[in-house]
Amino acid sequence: MSDQRSPEARAAGPADPQDLHRQAATLEQDAAAAVAAAADKKALEAVRVRFLGKKGTLTGLLKQMGRVPAAERRVIGGRINTLKQQLQETIEARRGAIDRARLRRAMADEVVDVTLPGRRRPGGSLHPLTHAFRRIEDIFGAAGYEVVSGPEIEDDHHNFEALNIPAHHPARAMHDTLYLDNGLLLRTHTSPVQIRVMAERSPPIRIICPGRVYRKDELDASHSPMFHQVEGLVVDEGVAFADLKGTVVDFVRRFFERDLGVRFRPSYFPFTEPSAEVDVQCVHCGGAGCGACGRTGWTEVMGCGMVHRNVLEMAGVDAERNTGFAFGFGVDRFATLFFGIDNMRHLFDNDLRFLGQFA
Ligand SMILES: [Zn+2]
Repeated sequence: MSDQRSPEARAAGPADPQDLHRQAATLEQDAAAAVAAAADKKALEAVRVRFLGKKGTLTGLLKQMGRVPAAERRVIGGRINTLKQQLQETIEARRGAIDRARLRRAMADEVVDVTLPGRRRPGGSLHPLTHAFRRIEDIFGAAGYEVVSGPEIEDDHHNFEALNIPAHHPARAMHDTLYLDNGLLLRTHTSPVQIRVMAERSPPIRIICPGRVYRKDELDASHSPMFHQVEGLVVDEGVAFADLKGTVVDFVRRFFERDLGVRFRPSYFPFTEPSAEVDVQCVHCGGAGCGACGRTGWTEVMGCGMVHRNVLEMAGVDAERNTGFAFGFGVDRFATLFFGIDNMRHLFDNDLRFLGQFA
């Protein structure tokens, strides 16, 4: 039981040593509990002031020493001083514990957990057409071809006249040409680039010209008003149809990474003579016949031929000494066949769910 009397009341007479012993015991318990309960330094400082401050409980006990009979003073005084020293040490220890706990929390908060999965940034991917262009350029590049580009806005001369397609030539009807107000046009094929190169250089010439071309087509599963072609041209002394055939067969097999059958059918283009259409065995059924190839087992992929003498001469090439072959094909077609894309519109829809598949 603690002493319920006020300090003034207690100061009135000699202090009772037994009472001081009881007060010291109570104080020891109270102080230990209060220190343990102090959650932070602020609370701990309040505990220190409560017991050890100028008006603190323990300080109050010490002040009563003067009224303890001398015989008892040494014992009770020693006990309270020990208690004071212990309490100071306990508070210091608690202060250290609070500091360490705070440091541990800070380290836990700031720690880098190397086992956490990383935050994945949305990755870009190459468009299937870009993949196809790169494959084509790699294959021809390795064979010594130079990649050349030309303007998409062309004049009638380069797009038609110089390719042996004069005005009113029926072949013009095959090109649903988009004309501009100034009389220029959007090129309907990449063939004008070969005219520009032949006009500027002398043989030997060995180029491919990849690029966009334009025709008045509606967008559907196999057509688009803007599509992509690669034109190839080789001009040199002694170039023969056999060279063309070997080049095309080798390219097709490298591109599709398969030993596909390739056939040449006689055809007609104003700028080549003789001319041929190139079919490859259907990549879907391997030639057995399926819906994709119209049950024929073949897919038409390319037009080609020996460069017409008129074209060589109009471009200023010495047609007595040089011959050449040219080929042209749709990159959109090659991309859809290679990746197994069933509808060409997917190439132009900009749907990231579709495009993201071609990393
Ligand atoms: Zn097929």
